[in-house]
Amino acid sequence: MAKKQFKAESKRLLNLMINSIYTHREIFLRELISNASDAMDKIYYKALSDESIAFNPSDYYIKITTDKENRILTISDTGIGMTKEELDDNLGVIAKSGSMAFKEEHEIKDGYDIIGQFGVGFYSAFMVADEVTVITKAFGSDKAYKWHSQGADGYRIQEWEKDSYGTDIILKIKEKTEEEDYDQFLENYRLKAIIKKYSDFIRYPIKMDFTSRRLKEGSEDEYEEFIEERIVNSMVPIWKKNKNELSPEDYDNFYREKRYGFDNPLKHIHISAEGAVSYNAILFIPEKMPFDFYTREYEKGLELYSSGVLIMDKCPDLLPDFFSFVKGMVDSEDLSLNISREMLQHDRQLKIIAKNIKNRIKTELSNMLKDEREKYEQFYKSFGRQLKYGIYEGFGMNKEMLQDLLLFYSSRERKMVTLSEYVSRMPEDQKYIYYAAGESIERIDKMPQTELITDKGYEILYFTEDVDEFAIRMLMNYQEKEFKSVSSGDLGIDPDTDKENQDLEEKDKELFQYMKNVLGDKVKDVRASKRLKNHPVCLANEGDLTIEMEKILNAIPTDQKIKAERILEINNNHEVFQSLREAFANDKEKLDLYTHLLYNQALMIEGLPLEDPLEFSNNICSIMK
Ligand code: ADP
Repeated sequence: MAKKQFKAESKRLLNLMINSIYTHREIFLRELISNASDAMDKIYYKALSDESIAFNPSDYYIKITTDKENRILTISDTGIGMTKEELDDNLGVIAKSGSMAFKEEHEIKDGYDIIGQFGVGFYSAFMVADEVTVITKAFGSDKAYKWHSQGADGYRIQEWEKDSYGTDIILKIKEKTEEEDYDQFLENYRLKAIIKKYSDFIRYPIKMDFTSRRLKEGSEDEYEEFIEERIVNSMVPIWKKNKNELSPEDYDNFYREKRYGFDNPLKHIHISAEGAVSYNAILFIPEKMPFDFYTREYEKGLELYSSGVLIMDKCPDLLPDFFSFVKGMVDSEDLSLNISREMLQHDRQLKIIAKNIKNRIKTELSNMLKDEREKYEQFYKSFGRQLKYGIYEGFGMNKEMLQDLLLFYSSRERKMVTLSEYVSRMPEDQKYIYYAAGESIERIDKMPQTELITDKGYEILYFTEDVDEFAIRMLMNYQEKEFKSVSSGDLGIDPDTDKENQDLEEKDKELFQYMKNVLGDKVKDVRASKRLKNHPVCLANEGDLTIEMEKILNAIPTDQKIKAERILEINNNHEVFQSLREAFANDKEKLDLYTHLLYNQALMIEGLPLEDPLEFSNNICSIMK
């Protein structure tokens, strides 16, 4: 029978797994046990919806046996098994979802993440074995098959004999090396410890044989050895346990066992709710953003169990989009098992649970913000953007839920601050919450538009993410204070108090009018600036659309390009203004040139492309001449 090749990506991943310097090789056992448990769940679930199938709980277990001499470790289950096609599909390709399109360097540096995030569980067997055999018989089928592989060079499938349905995973454990003591994976006491550590909550018994001694029958001093089968796991699922009995490591292990992520969760939330609907839930706020979080591949959702049986892998209705990063599970006895997915969506119980969960996550995040600021900021780095999307997408509908979870970088504190912190220190004469939008903190620091506001001693929030300004538009105001962009035409700062003499001479008005005519449609107006202190020029805008928003919207590929209403502001206290005046009086051609130069300077400061770089360059040359 011909040897089959693993799919190309699988091969790379497999090599990675085999050569991994992965520090916790022992987790292969957790992965294989989880698969076995899933396989039995599948029968259980079938039996619940199909009366012709009897489910006798004592028939379902995992058995782990060792053969030290031949270096064989076997993990057997009485689960649903696999057909030939399933063997090919499931064990021939890693990461069927196609989410393998991740960066090469990620793969090399961080082999670590991959294992958890892709569900490549089965392949972790190659971390400890140089040969893996799978013997399996699918439930309801009379044919059994053997799958065999020695690693990256491929696998073979052939017909085989097996009495009952289920799967045996047979590992030929690697020889002991200097770096790694593979022998430990053939020692029952070690295997038992690993199972206790990672798989204690598996609902099915995990059985192992232990050698014991007993008095020989009829004898008073002669002992004999005998084999005794014991169940090594406690079988009570973690969510059914009392919170006080559980340690943070228990939750961390559960997180890993479930492959929710390969980071350590930042926070766990354990809910045991009684009332209108009773349910248990364990939720996690991950520490790191999954690398596929902002791709289409990412599916939000919680695992949904009905009385301990998994009925849905990722139930999306349990999580609002703005909390899509939350991982975990919900188990309720009040959900009926026979309902279809569609009906599930309308299920009243499910809605109640979803609402409770949403509120609970919000409370936990608020508490984290209050009591564990550093941790919260770490969370925010990973998922803050998602909260902002939440405000934007709901047209502000989720305002109450989310606005106090927002953080922005502050010009004054030079760190992240909440809106309520900002408002609480606003001086009495300050009308608005000021923000500046730009690419980065460094860039915003240098924005000329911020000069007057900073001078007034007002704090500015820095918007460095593309979603920021859009989200704030939906928010409209916070504690009745409106948001105002530092680039907006009217800053709402009383002119008499800021700049000595705002009254322009009639002549200057004509000058500005002239400049406006030179620029034509490029700008809506040319004005004397009230906000500039040191810089000669900047762009401001009028209307709803800011220049930052224009940039973001125009980056979206459509035919329609949008343009914010631009106003060219000139600092009439700047030396340059004198030159403009002189040119206006004596040399109009020069003034045309200056006007174009200043406009282009303003564009550059905004990070906007020059409309005609060549002309700009020629203009500079002509004044150097
Ligand atoms: P994952 O479990 O994350 O899907 P794995 O690589 O561990 O990824 O397994 C791939 C698939 O192979 C599983 O989804 C399952 O369909 C099948 N499989 C693995 N182990 C078993 C088993 N013991 N019994 C039945 N099917 C299994």
